[in-house]
Amino acid sequence: MRIDTRNLYRLPWSVNDNPIGWLEVTDKCNIVCKGCYREELEGHRPLDVLEEEVRRLKELRNPDSICIAGGEPLLHPQICDIVAYVNSLGLKAAILTNAVNLDENLARELKRAGVYNLKLHIDQWQSRPHHKRKTEVELMDLRQSYVELLRKVGGIDATFGATVYRENLQYVGDILAWAQKNIDVVSGLIFLTFRAVPTGGEVELYAGGKRVDPKELRYSTNDATEVGITAADVLDSMRRVYPDVRASSFLGGTMCPDTPKWLLLTHIASSDRSYGFVGPRTMELAQTFHHAVFGKYLTHGDRPRLGPGYFGLSAIDPAVRPGLRRWATDLARRPWRLFDRTLTTQSVLILQGPDHLEDGTVDMCDSCPDMAFFEGKLYPSCRLDELRKWGTLANAHHTDADARRRAESARQKLPIAPPC
Ligand code: SF4
Repeated sequence: MRIDTRNLYRLPWSVNDNPIGWLEVTDKCNIVCKGCYREELEGHRPLDVLEEEVRRLKELRNPDSICIAGGEPLLHPQICDIVAYVNSLGLKAAILTNAVNLDENLARELKRAGVYNLKLHIDQWQSRPHHKRKTEVELMDLRQSYVELLRKVGGIDATFGATVYRENLQYVGDILAWAQKNIDVVSGLIFLTFRAVPTGGEVELYAGGKRVDPKELRYSTNDATEVGITAADVLDSMRRVYPDVRASSFLGGTMCPDTPKWLLLTHIASSDRSYGFVGPRTMELAQTFHHAVFGKYLTHGDRPRLGPGYFGLSAIDPAVRPGLRRWATDLARRPWRLFDRTLTTQSVLILQGPDHLEDGTVDMCDSCPDMAFFEGKLYPSCRLDELRKWGTLANAHHTDADARRRAESARQKLPIAPPC
């Protein structure tokens, strides 16, 4: 089902007022993921360089949190120093990790260093030791083992992520249901639709005026059907398990402003009962209130522990009212639910990465939240390997004039082409 972004709240994030700062600490990794954007070219980055980048991110981006990414950040020998430095500047430190190296000792060290959130990326197209060729459903035990570990350590917020391919699209609702059962530990989910640069067809790639081979990029594919999954497909798949699922807010595309590249949902639930999803009014209130009071926008994982207080939002947000009625009915039957300590919110981010349009242009995320430094300037982190290999971002050129015309008319919404 197509998503009508006119009914959603457009997140007010911009390049220089954005709750997220992105810091890549290494390009080394201990597994191979099909959806990875990064190739090993440099190894671990020095601590002083990283500290300088954190300071500059703070100055330029006004972030609430720094997402420490890679490669696999837990391989960096000074990962705890990096976390502590981020923390010392009054920023929340989040780590995007495959969690292969995460054990109780390391979790406790990271906690001591002040880590705020771990984003554990687990999906079925990873060469994960002892879990190769496992299906998305079979990986639930692995996810659960990390939840048990973090529950034992306590005090670390957890988000789970997965890249969405044709093969696991049908399971996103099951992952959401699993996350709800563990809502005390799991504050959010991230579903990233698989994206890659197309190598076939009529597209030629140029960097710095020279033709380059897209196959040099780790994220290239000659199978166009692999890269077509949209945020709307992911939302539709969730509907199988949660029929009332709805999004509240979005970031559009740089070329197609009505394409939801970042689509945000907030689930109000306890571990055994869903009370629906908030609407755009709640997200607007949350973002503007947080900015007015704390001077920064809110990231998708943050959640105040309001318990039943969330239903007070029904005064301004009609989307919350059915949940309030459900909760009131539950309470009449089982009054002890008033003390249900697991009632809270859980965020879901659906990220539809760069789309390569027919005319060769690339539809990126507007106000890209995941911008990283390359030689002192900020670029979308998903395209850093173009800079690292060719010194500049690559431009695509479609040799088929009809395709170029179709894509252009689609963006302008002329009647001869389907919407982009
Ligand atoms: S444009 Fe930015 S937010 Fe979007 S996928 Fe690339 S790095 Fe992530």
